Formats: sequence, C-alpha cells, structure tokens
Amino acid sequence: MPKTGKTTSKRAPKRATAQNAKRKITEVQALENIRELLAYIGDDPSREGLLETPKRIVKSWDKLFGGYKQRPQDVLKTFVEGSCEEMVVLKDIEFYSTCEHHLQPFFGTISIGYLPNGRVLGISKLARLVEVFARRLQIQEKLVAQIADSLMETLHPHGVMVVCKAKHMCISSRGIEKHNAVMVTSAIRGAFKKLEVRSEFLEMIK
Ligand code: ZN
Repeated sequence: MPKTGKTTSKRAPKRATAQNAKRKITEVQALENIRELLAYIGDDPSREGLLETPKRIVKSWDKLFGGYKQRPQDVLKTFVEGSCEEMVVLKDIEFYSTCEHHLQPFFGTISIGYLPNGRVLGISKLARLVEVFARRLQIQEKLVAQIADSLMETLHPHGVMVVCKAKHMCISSRGIEKHNAVMVTSAIRGAFKKLEVRSEFLEMIK
C-alpha cells in the first residue's frame, strides 16, 4: 500500500511509549510529576495543604500497586500433596483494586473454586494470590482471568472458576449515577465448563 510512510509514523510513538515504560522513574521525578498534575487540575501545589500530598500519594501507591513486586508463582510455590479430589472453595475474599482506565478504585469480593488433582493449597494462599493481581492497575475481566490462569499453570488442577463482584468508583463518581451497580465477571477453566461442576460451585458461593 502507498500509505507505508503513514504507518511508520504511527509506530514511532508506540516505541517511545515502550521505552518510557522501561525507563526507571525516580521518586523525586514522581513527586515532581504529581505536583504538575495538581497544578493541571487548577490548584496550587505549593499551598500548605498540598505540600505533603505528593509524598502521601507515592506512599499509598506502595500498597495500592504492591502487586507489581510480587509474582504468583512465589505465592503458590508451597502446596500439600494429598488425595483430595473434592472441590475446594474460598468465597467472598475482599479485594481493593484500581481501574486502569480511570485510575479510580474498584472493590468487592472474589470467590475461587478449584478441583484438585492431588495437590491442594493452604487456604491463605488463595487470598494472597488475589492481592498479587488486585494490587495493580486492572480491569475486572483481566483480574479473574489472571487468577484462574495462574492457578491452572501452577497447581494443575482439573479446573478452576473465579467469580468477582465489584463496584467501580469510575461508574458511580463520574455522573453516570448508577451508584449501586455491581459488575460481575467470571473466569471458567477446565472441568468447570461442565454444567454440574459449575452448578456445585455456584451453589457453594451463594
Ligand atoms: Zn474505570
């Protein structure tokens, strides 16, 4: 196609973005960038009430985005060999995450079920696995898929199902006025694709 020139110029910013992602941003730079954003919204970053705000934001990010420093395989590396073949369910695990589209919180509960294939996890591991993925920039659809896939890859169960119910601040705070809307997403792997297995899980998390 004669539009080759245009295609190339479109690709250039993409490469630049990838380079930016790899560039290590220091805390000093992050603080300065937040001051600029405070000015951008029309406030005065040098006024007393805002002086410490950039530091507080960066500190809160340690917790909110701590998942980037953790790997699911580290959380899941200890498991117990056993003969358990019955469904294991942990329901209503509370989580708090951040929407990657608006940088606003979304939060709710996640329920996880799996059918063991000779290996079971300590129950706290499932809650920690939720933290690994929730404490990142997320969308709810990806969150359940990442939890399900990491369990499939690490534990090799017969199947996994993850159900997430959450409220999104970006829906309730931007004037759409659906304050009580709850979004439900699920990820279904392996044996949970069979209706009877899925029904047993859904009955247990009711
Ligand atoms: Zn959003």
